[in-house]
Amino acid sequence: MITVIGSINMDIAIQTEIFPKQGETVLGNLFTTIPGGKGANQAVAAARLGSQVQMVGAVGQDAFGKELHGNLINENVHVEGIAKTNSSTGIANILLNDNDNRIIVVPGANFDVDRSLIDQNMDLIKKSSLVMLQLEIPVDTIEYVLGLCEKLSIPILLNPAPAANYKPEWIEKVTYLTPNETECEVIFGADYETVLKQYPNKIIVTLGGDGAAYYDGAHIVKVPGFKTKAVDTTGAGDTFNGAFAHAITEGKSIEESVQFANIAASLSVEKFGAQGGMPSIEKVNERLE
Ligand code: ADP
Repeated sequence: MITVIGSINMDIAIQTEIFPKQGETVLGNLFTTIPGGKGANQAVAAARLGSQVQMVGAVGQDAFGKELHGNLINENVHVEGIAKTNSSTGIANILLNDNDNRIIVVPGANFDVDRSLIDQNMDLIKKSSLVMLQLEIPVDTIEYVLGLCEKLSIPILLNPAPAANYKPEWIEKVTYLTPNETECEVIFGADYETVLKQYPNKIIVTLGGDGAAYYDGAHIVKVPGFKTKAVDTTGAGDTFNGAFAHAITEGKSIEESVQFANIAASLSVEKFGAQGGMPSIEKVNERLE
């Protein structure tokens, strides 16, 4: 069982030709609500590939909370670990025009994912073959989970996004760290090849269309991405993480798991929306052959 402890958001996207100035009202073109949050996205990515996945997180007792809960059930993610709290469901308010975007995230219930929620779900967490974390829930909870998994000898995959919430001392506790190139620079203040060499078989840096890289103890292994026409790269990293988790818990090597994750993520960028393009195992296997 893969356990994702993380965020569940509704992405509220508005497409508009002009952004309103202070005190101004404008007419937008398009309004959509799309399930998101890095935690939920990564859970869905792994579940679509056939992994048993459970989510520990929180939503509010509002319409978005209900919808997101239902969405995870539809995606075969186990939801026993999701609390319904008095906060509002987490949202990302995204304003888009042709060449710019402006985003406000209100974490809401995601910030109710605290130590006591982890304690309440201890029996679920103990069943995990891998725990996946991102940084959209309180830092204190991340720290608590890292200590807990160390004690229980449960491997951890930490996707350090947003990178600003990352703490350097965590590196010793995680099994895999999966920054993208920018996050890697923000966290370590050095180019990724220098960073990788310090942490063999631990850090996997994703490199957009170029794929991903890690250090095997002797060489930097660059696993090229699958060349495709990208339509929307939102959620590419989430698909990569979910797919990597699926493959590594199936017993594949790091190199095979990165290859598998590159293929899954390349399929995801061909469609709109973070979860929209996340592939089934059949689609990935077709492309792997
Ligand atoms: P993030 O989405 O977190 O910024 P990246 O941009 O590094 O992360 O993308 C994550 C993964 O998605 C890459 O390692 C690669 O496998 C895949 N990917 C991203 N962009 C493309 C693309 N244009 N073509 C093919 N694969 C892509």
